[in-house]
Amino acid sequence: MRAIQITQTGGPDVLALRDLPNPTPGPGQALMQIEACGVNFIDVYLREGRYPSQLPFVPGQEAAGTVIALGADVASDSFKVGDRVVWCHVMGTYAEFAVAPLSKLIAIPESISVRQAAAAMLQGMTAHYLAHSTYAIQAGDTVLIHAGAGGVGLLLIQMAKRLGARVLTTVSTEEKAALAREAGADETILYTREDFATKVRELTGGKGVPVVYDSVGKTTFDGSLACLRPRGVMALYGGSSGAVPPFDLIQLSTKGSLYVTRPTLKDYTATRADLEQRAGDVLRWVAEGTLKLRLEHNYPLADAAQAHRDLEARKTTGKVLLIP
Ligand code: NDP
Repeated sequence: MRAIQITQTGGPDVLALRDLPNPTPGPGQALMQIEACGVNFIDVYLREGRYPSQLPFVPGQEAAGTVIALGADVASDSFKVGDRVVWCHVMGTYAEFAVAPLSKLIAIPESISVRQAAAAMLQGMTAHYLAHSTYAIQAGDTVLIHAGAGGVGLLLIQMAKRLGARVLTTVSTEEKAALAREAGADETILYTREDFATKVRELTGGKGVPVVYDSVGKTTFDGSLACLRPRGVMALYGGSSGAVPPFDLIQLSTKGSLYVTRPTLKDYTATRADLEQRAGDVLRWVAEGTLKLRLEHNYPLADAAQAHRDLEARKTTGKVLLIP
């Protein structure tokens, strides 16, 4: 099969197209023909070596496609050949075929396409746990969401609005601001041109916000803390601009008994029940048309390196997909 393989960590050029043997499904697993795989920022961290992984490896941990074979012991009442499925958190999806445990598979509702499912799963469930569990948004809250035109950002804005929040969001350009507003953002702040913490204080009458959803990390962390009201929650869920350096915990006290958490999707979909509930909500909202996906960035599998370059250069908005 054609697949992207990483034999050494580094820049986008380490994403090499290779001919590799097709995987075979083991016990409890299914083999899928992939129709779309999701590109996520975590793929960049793994490619760079910021997150360690054993070499060589096929990157990617989100895809959707069709079941084409099942492991020997798979019960006949579970998934079957021909089912359309989506999954995440199983490495090896930048490929034409991949295996995954059945425990990770979610059936794709009839009314949504395989590409929509691939685009919704990982970023959708991330937005879901951030808005409902890490800090459960209450109607009337004013919340700050960084990188509002990004993959997670556009979905998180929509979920926060659905929960009745007033949404402030940061973006780097006017074009991205327009997309964030289309998704429901009440206020957009160009954090490349103005000090977002000052602006957030202004927009909240000096009070600050109860939660900041920060995926940008290094360049925003200090400003994000400055946006919080006393006992506010800093949900640092990524580091698109780089890792946050160590900081003195006393700041949490002097800035108002703040909470900092560094959540990750794995822990919020650790049980089958959690996974089904979050994926179920996200896919149902997509099917109903109440959660809109932005699917403008599709690349052939062979162009994985370009997809990474564009994601890192802040050129993409919404979901980035690779099509095998
Ligand atoms: P995005 O589509 O949001 O892309 C990243 C965005 O970050 C850019 O478009 C850009 O928006 C902004 N950004 C700000 N500074 C930089 C910089 N120096 N370099 C690159 N981008 C920058 O990506 P995803 O939706 O895939 O992921 C968003 C974040 O969420 C990532 O940090 C990822 O690691 C994290 N994540 C965390 C999960 C978790 O469970 N913890 C799960 C899924 C994702 P702009 O141009 O507007 O500034």
